Amino acid sequence: MKIMVINSGSSSIKYQIFDMRDRSVLASGLLEKIGEPDSRLAHQTLVQGNRFEKIEKKAAVADHRQGFDLINTVLKDTGALRNMAELAGIGHRVVHGGEAFTQPTLIDDAVIDTIRTLIPLAPLHNPANLTGIEVARAGAPDVPQVAIFDTAFHQTLPPHAFHYAIPRELYRKHAIRRYGFHGTSHFYVAKQAAGLMRRPFETLSLITLHLGNGASATAVQNGVSIDTSMGLTPLEGLIMGTRCGDLDPAIIFYLERETGRSSDAIDALLNKESGLKGICGVNDMREIAQLAEAGNTDARLAIDMYLYRLRKYIGSYTAVLGRLDALVFTGGIGENAAGIRSAACRDLEMLGIIIDEDKNRAATREAREIHSTDSRVRILVIPTNEELEIADQTKRLLESASSHETGDR
Ligand code: ADP
Repeated sequence: MKIMVINSGSSSIKYQIFDMRDRSVLASGLLEKIGEPDSRLAHQTLVQGNRFEKIEKKAAVADHRQGFDLINTVLKDTGALRNMAELAGIGHRVVHGGEAFTQPTLIDDAVIDTIRTLIPLAPLHNPANLTGIEVARAGAPDVPQVAIFDTAFHQTLPPHAFHYAIPRELYRKHAIRRYGFHGTSHFYVAKQAAGLMRRPFETLSLITLHLGNGASATAVQNGVSIDTSMGLTPLEGLIMGTRCGDLDPAIIFYLERETGRSSDAIDALLNKESGLKGICGVNDMREIAQLAEAGNTDARLAIDMYLYRLRKYIGSYTAVLGRLDALVFTGGIGENAAGIRSAACRDLEMLGIIIDEDKNRAATREAREIHSTDSRVRILVIPTNEELEIADQTKRLLESASSHETGDR
């Protein structure tokens, strides 16, 4: 059984094809700069001996439809796939599922219409995700397509956690509430954590920290998300590469009044020019760490602020959970930045969190434990794999759909 996973952005298509017999990757690629003259497809196909053969294609790709055709051709030419019909399913990452989607969903016209109605909640992401769905449906009409939503895992948040303290009618009329994002990643690493701990997922209290360019924290209790740091949009919560995270909302009105900026300009300022970049001019944590090491005070401040916010969330989610079994780090920073993990856990003995520095600094990319033997809370580093989780969920949905069909006959 082969499943393709598609993550379609406004000017890019990222894809992977899995052989679901052993969940291995058969091919993957990234088409970038769609709509520009210098579009570029970087593709790799698994060849004999677990080796990947890489190819690169540079050619103007006018739109996503042409992009999907190009990917189709490359898959055929490299032997990764004879044709699209060989796929058992295509799983699409969709950023915002609102309250309509709490589960992986088989895509039909009605589902597409509903995703479209959610565009105001994710004006940058959902249109791009929809375009990916539409071109994949046109290019592979006989292959079932499944939508997997970044928000779905957080649909278990209780009302006291998802409501904002603004007039209730804004929720009823405009669906303003906390949705949360990175759900596929939080769910994946939380399940992996349970596996590593050899404990049933449904019995655990976890804090999962997805620290990439975007970043979010989630409190997971008994297998479900009970709170998460991102909100109506992915702007709230932790300090991120270019996003401010938590902010006094009055700053926006103050900026409007005092600087004459439009709301669109402030939106761009808070999403693209803030966070680590806003503090020290750079959004890449590796670079910031080097600058701080070299004595750059802005870079040092950026890291201190980043850690301070992170530690506040660890503390507050520990209180929310009442009991903490494990703290899980993932994402580019969470998986690789030992210094950030170490500083995030420093002096948290009163919460039962004690890191083992040797384990923390070990050079490995495997899922692993990094807590000291006397730590009550386990501290885990778990590489995320959202594509694999999307493929797994797609497979499960297709299998349950086909068993229902068989049962009906
Ligand atoms: P995205 O959210 O775009 O998927 P990633 O999860 O890849 O991003 O995370 C990107 C972040 O991870 C960047 O800030 C990058 O500097 C950081 N990162 C990657 N490797 C390391 C490393 N070895 N040390 C510190 N930070 C790292």
